[in-house]
Amino acid sequence: SNSSSSTCKDHQQPSINNNNKNRVINLDHGDPTVYEEFWRESGEKTTITIPGWQSMSYFSDVSNKVCWFLEPEFAKEVVRLHGVVGNAVTEDRHIIVGTGSSQLFLAALYALSPTDSLEPMSVVSASPYYSSYPSMTDYQKSGLYKWGGDAEKFEKSGPYIELVTSPNNPDGCVRRSVLNRTEGLLVHDLAYYWPHYTPISSPADHDLTLFTLSKATGHAGMRIGWALVKDKEVAKKMTKFIELNTIGVSKDSQLRAAKVMRAVSDGCELQGDGESFFKFSHKLMSNRWKQLREAVHRSNGLFSVPTFSPSFCTFFNQNLEPHPAFVWLKCEGNVEDCERFLRGHNILTRSGTHFGVSQQYVRISMLDTHENFMHFLHRLSTINSR
Ligand code: PMP
Repeated sequence: SNSSSSTCKDHQQPSINNNNKNRVINLDHGDPTVYEEFWRESGEKTTITIPGWQSMSYFSDVSNKVCWFLEPEFAKEVVRLHGVVGNAVTEDRHIIVGTGSSQLFLAALYALSPTDSLEPMSVVSASPYYSSYPSMTDYQKSGLYKWGGDAEKFEKSGPYIELVTSPNNPDGCVRRSVLNRTEGLLVHDLAYYWPHYTPISSPADHDLTLFTLSKATGHAGMRIGWALVKDKEVAKKMTKFIELNTIGVSKDSQLRAAKVMRAVSDGCELQGDGESFFKFSHKLMSNRWKQLREAVHRSNGLFSVPTFSPSFCTFFNQNLEPHPAFVWLKCEGNVEDCERFLRGHNILTRSGTHFGVSQQYVRISMLDTHENFMHFLHRLSTINSR
């Protein structure tokens, strides 16, 4: 279609307007359905068939002394993809697979907390922090670890775990640890350290790093994440946690993940027919952010969003601006509760209070379907004109 002309866009908007005023636009979760369009096109390249007799055993690789449920095929593609993208060092690292990086997050807390301590280990992260960290840390009232709140305000002496999310959920900022004490243990959650969201500056080289396919390729439903771990004993304890928790990680999912990751790496290396996944997703995110900034600009100061300066991306070999997976929107002026205000306009978002900051902020997903995103932009514009 000839959607590039602005008159054409104007013609499309009234139909959205007339039919869907009361439609609820839910952008509370970060469900990455935006990439479905790309994967539909990939066909056989990302399809696997699993006969009934396959993947029956609990065990994947008994020769792996650190993680016996890790599928070698999957491990190979993890190493290859990081090599192709240049976003993490994999040499001398132990790979632990998890049911999403969520399971690995809990495995990391378990592995890093001393068992003989009189009180639980404090778990902290600089606010605004990913809203699931406090609840995931405390929901089982563990004796091993306990949520300690905003890292910037953490004053207790002794050992602690600091969660460093970079780029950060919700605000998209590049981060490093804020507490630099010798007793501190770090968990780097690099769920969004991929070229479509942020310029790749150098291969991450930390003690314990978490990645997830959910945000990398958008396959959240596969529930596959991985940890790159330096210390062998920590890696073994993480394996132990997953053993106690789910006796391993779905082989079917690992094999499917391997196939998808192979297609991504092939697409980047061969560059022959068709577009690589990151080129596609980068262009898409770049477009969305451009449209969003235009909509916010039209609000005449009712809303504001963060601005980011460009930096060099070693993957795309050029200076690029970040395009975070979420908008960290602020209601300016006299709107106090931004989440409630937008809910009044049938837009569901997540309040800043979940991330440890004020209710003037909300987090809005940028990864929803094209249809929902277009409705959202249009709805924002109608708020502005009032
Ligand atoms: N870490 C961060 C920062 C996230 O945003 C998410 C997903 N919202 C996760 C971890 C969990 O991802 P998953 O369990 O799907 O791998």
